[in-house]
Amino acid sequence: MQGVGFRPAVYRHALACGVAGFVRNDPRGVTVDVEGEESAVAAFFADLAANAPGRSEIVRVTRRRLPPKGYRCFTVDASDTRGDVRVHLPPDLAVCEACLREMRDPADRRYRYPFINCVDCGPRFTIVTALPYDRANTSMNGFTMCDECAAEYHDPSDRRFHAQPIACPVCGPRLKLLDPSGLQGPTDDAALARAWEIIGEGGIVAVKGLGGFHLACDALDERAVARLRERKTRPDQAVAVMFRDLRELQTRLPVSQTEAVELLSGAAPIVVVDGNLGEGISPDTGTTGVFLPYTPLHHLLLEPFSALVMTSANRRDEPLALDDAEVSALLGPVADAVLTHDRPIVRRCDDPVVRMAGSRRRFLRRARGFVPEPVRIGAGSPVVLAVGAELKSTFCLVSHGEAYVSQHIGELRDHKTYVHFGEEITRWKETLGLEPLAVAHDLHPAYLSTRYAHECGAPEIFGVQHHHAHVASVMAECGLVGLVLGVALDGTGYGPDGTIWGGEFLLADRRDYRRVARFKPYPLPGGDAAVVEPWRMALSIAVEEDLPWRPDRREASRSSAVERLLRSGPGCPLTSSAGRLFDGAAAMLGLCDRAGYEAQAAIRLEAVADPSERGGYPHALDRGKTPWALDFGPAFQDMAEAVVCGAAVAQTAGRFQNTVVAGVAETCLTLCDEYGIGDVVLSGGVFQNRTVLEGLDRALHDAGLAVHSNAAVPANDGGVSLGQAAVACSRMEAAACV
Ligand SMILES: [Zn+2]
Ligand SMILES: [Zn+2]
Ligand SMILES: [Zn+2]
Repeated sequence: MQGVGFRPAVYRHALACGVAGFVRNDPRGVTVDVEGEESAVAAFFADLAANAPGRSEIVRVTRRRLPPKGYRCFTVDASDTRGDVRVHLPPDLAVCEACLREMRDPADRRYRYPFINCVDCGPRFTIVTALPYDRANTSMNGFTMCDECAAEYHDPSDRRFHAQPIACPVCGPRLKLLDPSGLQGPTDDAALARAWEIIGEGGIVAVKGLGGFHLACDALDERAVARLRERKTRPDQAVAVMFRDLRELQTRLPVSQTEAVELLSGAAPIVVVDGNLGEGISPDTGTTGVFLPYTPLHHLLLEPFSALVMTSANRRDEPLALDDAEVSALLGPVADAVLTHDRPIVRRCDDPVVRMAGSRRRFLRRARGFVPEPVRIGAGSPVVLAVGAELKSTFCLVSHGEAYVSQHIGELRDHKTYVHFGEEITRWKETLGLEPLAVAHDLHPAYLSTRYAHECGAPEIFGVQHHHAHVASVMAECGLVGLVLGVALDGTGYGPDGTIWGGEFLLADRRDYRRVARFKPYPLPGGDAAVVEPWRMALSIAVEEDLPWRPDRREASRSSAVERLLRSGPGCPLTSSAGRLFDGAAAMLGLCDRAGYEAQAAIRLEAVADPSERGGYPHALDRGKTPWALDFGPAFQDMAEAVVCGAAVAQTAGRFQNTVVAGVAETCLTLCDEYGIGDVVLSGGVFQNRTVLEGLDRALHDAGLAVHSNAAVPANDGGVSLGQAAVACSRMEAAACV
């Protein structure tokens, strides 16, 4: 992959081994021709992998013996840009140690320069306008290299050889500060100093990053954090905190070895770690999203601070602000100043969010630093576009078995986000040079992504059931092709029977599925209203199961109206959703009456649950007719009694989670036995609950089953596009075989 310094590394290695020849990028990867003494050539190949730069990945090496050509030296050839250029689109990389050392060296010509970069680091994906990845095809093309930069750029022995965003204070981008009126204030170091002052006084500064702007304030200043929340009208959702360095972070929160590795990686994601910095940072959980500076500007900005809140600068559900004009709209109402610069952002890209499960990375949001690296799904089909779901939207383009899953796009119901979605699909198609022959979409007729699929004019179109797509996303990333038992525990997905699915057991391959079991369905009073107001779901379960529980007095009048609605029937679609079951349990425990963001009730339930609790409640598996029904009614009987008796919430929540794990595990074992299946696939948003994922993984594994779950894409709806693509590829292959 270009942009990771592979050719210069090969060049240096060749010189060290004393061989002649050349290295060049070609459409399939890298070609190296070496000539020399037998032992020198052998030494070259023996240590090639060990000398490859850290960010490169050698997938396969093919060697051929050729007649000698009589090379006299070793050279780096200009890129061969003919044909397939996709291998050369790299993700953004966090600033490297070598660049940071230079930035802190008063004798260096890039001393304190906020845009220092090299072949091992810097912006990539977010500044690319077209392929091949050359300076002319990036937003750096407006900057003419000075003589010194040009010399470094053209010198194969220099660590900035072909570093496309190469820049210095003489020729590169410059920092500037916009004051609340939007007028330009100080520039360069003075701009930085003013930003420090504003943040130091408890203010909020919008800061231009790689894929958008952040809103920054002092994370240890409670009043500043409260003001940020108030201004962003985001009372409940956690905000991410960027620490000055790992040591500073470790003085405040425990960080495991694998979490540290992840934080320091080139992708520099937000890592959700255990421990809480206070109400203002993560109001609902005992965890905190933390990350480390990943641009030189971040390092400079954090110099006088231990930690800054760095949350994306957008209006609720809208896409990230991209340029000064967009961010200026946030000035005054939200930000006190804007710290910006003149290197344009080509593509919006949020920070990625991960959580470590042992040594495994689980994505909550896949974005900067990871895109556009493809997921290899091993299907040799024509080009397919999959448009994803609606919340946490992503799309996916597949070609030659490589699935390019887009960055997190967001909530499509917001008009601006939908426009961004369409623009980004067009841009990806152009950049990758792919024109889809087929498009895959969710079955939900009202999703805007579905509308997009019908209007985009692709020759073939495939509707893919939401939970089949979840299951197929795991099959695709794990290379599973045979029959599996797919368990999709999720919020909301359109079922072809007109009900809302979300607690599903599917006998599935990549092409098709059969629904063999599901959670016992309950009416969803008021449809979407019940998603926002979890007490409605609790009431629905209470009425259905005849429980001694009703919502508290505040909701009394609305509650009786909803109860009448439930008893009369219409207006209450049935749902087998696992997410709604968690909503119901959380509301019954008094944890969440109104959800301020998606899955808030479930997140609170997981947060309060006692992790040492081993007890559980009864459940039942009704095998009377297909699909079987996994019935948690008996559990809710006991829970309602526990609540009425004033049992400890931590204990009841813990037991509820254990009950879900036990019920799902038993259903899996029975189904695997019934159908002779050895592979179980787990996907869907509920698997972001660590207790449920780990508990189920352990239970099924202990029973001798192979358990698979998402690692390359999120288990939530951010992974749906990959699954849709896999299903469409498989259907097209099957059609081609007939
Ligand atoms: Zn560097
Ligand atoms: Zn320069
Ligand atoms: Zn889903």
